[in-house]
Amino acid sequence: MEQARFSVVTDRPNGIPHTNRPRLGSLKHSNSQVDTPAFMFYTKCGSVPYISRELFEKIVPDDQALFNFPLPTCLSFLQPLKEFKRGLNSFVGLEKYLSCCSITDYAVDTPQGYNKKDCVAIKTKSGNQLINHEKYMDIIEVFKPTMYVTLSISDINLNSSLSSIEKSVNISNRLFKSCLERHHQSEVLKQSGVIAPIQGGYNVQERIRSATFLSEYHDDVLGFLFDGFFTDGTIVEEIPSDLIVPIINKTMEFIPYDKMKIIFGAWTPSLIIDLINSGMDMFDSCLPCITTERNSALIFDYNLKYKNESIIMDVSHRKTDKMNDNLNEYEICLTDKCHFEKFVPIKDSCTCLTCKKHTRSYIHHLLVSNELLGSILLTIHNLHYFNQFFKDIREVLMK
Ligand SMILES: [Zn+2]
Repeated sequence: MEQARFSVVTDRPNGIPHTNRPRLGSLKHSNSQVDTPAFMFYTKCGSVPYISRELFEKIVPDDQALFNFPLPTCLSFLQPLKEFKRGLNSFVGLEKYLSCCSITDYAVDTPQGYNKKDCVAIKTKSGNQLINHEKYMDIIEVFKPTMYVTLSISDINLNSSLSSIEKSVNISNRLFKSCLERHHQSEVLKQSGVIAPIQGGYNVQERIRSATFLSEYHDDVLGFLFDGFFTDGTIVEEIPSDLIVPIINKTMEFIPYDKMKIIFGAWTPSLIIDLINSGMDMFDSCLPCITTERNSALIFDYNLKYKNESIIMDVSHRKTDKMNDNLNEYEICLTDKCHFEKFVPIKDSCTCLTCKKHTRSYIHHLLVSNELLGSILLTIHNLHYFNQFFKDIREVLMK
């Protein structure tokens, strides 16, 4: 079997590659395919939180799925996985799907300042583990994912100093080279793709330096990850578009057009659209997962149009549910008292298993009683809604 391949399928106007434009793409490996723009399903300890594989197949019935396995949530079963020998996908019962290993769990806080020299601190339940590139590649050889992000220093946020940013780029570049050398020597990883993590925080020059260095190895990589923008799982929702989009647009000019572009984190739906307009191909499902964790459901109405080589989104839901004080513009909180006797689905137009069968009132009662089924029903809705959002984005690009 060969490595996964990514290809851009959008026509190039006049045959010239256009950066900073939305595009359709396709990620293929063996018999599996994921059409982009898309998102990876966030997992914890090898599974989507609250969802069994059987239930997942009902929410996403078309077999098109890529799972992200954050290392901090998977290290606990490294030893049994070594004995098992058949890799992470098979161990967690998701063998027919594509997989990607990342170093960071983007849904929770990342510890800052624990990295030492060329060792990266991985936050696990039993404390921080320092991992060098040799140990990291040993782990990746045991996991055998479809693709993986090379080891890097990404504990950078808006407040990081220039010297911390420079250090993270220097070390990450070194680690990338070391991981890549080991990758080429590895028989086990012949089928795994390499994702190069672009660091540089909010400093455009450092982003360009990182991107330029990594792009020299473009023949060796499947895609590029825009990393190191935040260190807190939820703060990402507050990062304004005009802070991040210009940096990404500029950096895109320095990496090959044909490679997959990835960003992780709970970005808001309107920022997701902005990033797709910048040429981003792949996201993750941190947003629906974090939404479920705060007992909320995604309900934003959107109208997508394609105009002047950009997707335009009108979000028409703006705090229409007046009794809900905690409402942001994308979600409703189901533990709010106003749902006590609301005998309507989370969202009238939604076709998910939860909305077809259950009322806001029942879900409210499950959540306030701390019944696990409440979070399960919310996850079904939130993943379905987020998945439909991406299907609609791809559809508007196909027209
Ligand atoms: Zn629903």
